Amino acid sequence: MVAILLGPPGVGKGTQGDRLVRALGWQKIATGDLLRAARREGTELGRKAQEYMEAGNLVPDELIVELVKEKLAALSPDTGVLFDGFPRTVPQAEALDAALPSVDRKVGVVILFDAPADVLHKRISGRRSSPDSGRVYNIYFDPPKVEGICDETGSALIHRDDDQPETVARRLEVYRKQTQPLVEYYDESQATLLRIDGDQEMSEVQGDLHAALAREAGIEVGEA
Ligand code: AMP
Repeated sequence: MVAILLGPPGVGKGTQGDRLVRALGWQKIATGDLLRAARREGTELGRKAQEYMEAGNLVPDELIVELVKEKLAALSPDTGVLFDGFPRTVPQAEALDAALPSVDRKVGVVILFDAPADVLHKRISGRRSSPDSGRVYNIYFDPPKVEGICDETGSALIHRDDDQPETVARRLEVYRKQTQPLVEYYDESQATLLRIDGDQEMSEVQGDLHAALAREAGIEVGEA
């Protein structure tokens, strides 16, 4: 099974995706995480991606498609795969459709999350993460006890450079222009498209997601 998480930045795809793969024993391929790792490691891909990411723009399709193909080839054939943040353009979706038959897979489910722009803006620009525990806070909705400091480890929280307010506006615009057309692409495909309201408490979003997966895709998610 191949499933795709679709939706604007800040809608909660990452959190829901992490929980889902844990509960199902699937693998997640999150292109944003892979690119950030490549930048930290200073690889050629990381260097090429840097300026696009800092500006809130998309990294060119060829680089992303190559990265994803590498990851797909390395997976064991019977593991379910959940894509987070990929595909983000119609050419990426077409490249995925073209690549999957060679690994004997196809896109089964596409999960679309959405929420109003003002909510997304606060969720992303308020996001701060702990470099060592990995815990993610939000200064508006889920602040640490002491401003700027991780409750668990005491280290200084990080504000991702592409989570700065100016870049957030650009990322939301890029989503509407370049990624939203994928809703129609998948609506017309053989895959099952699930629409989930992302403007709710995390637990409610998760409840809706599990119910929709069971009802429309026959996927029962147990407890993580
Ligand atoms: P994310 O963590 O998914 O929000 O991704 C962070 C940034 O990485 C994006 O703003 C893009 O610059 C880049 N990126 C991640 N995934 C893709 C993709 N599928 N296509 C193009 N750029 C991507």
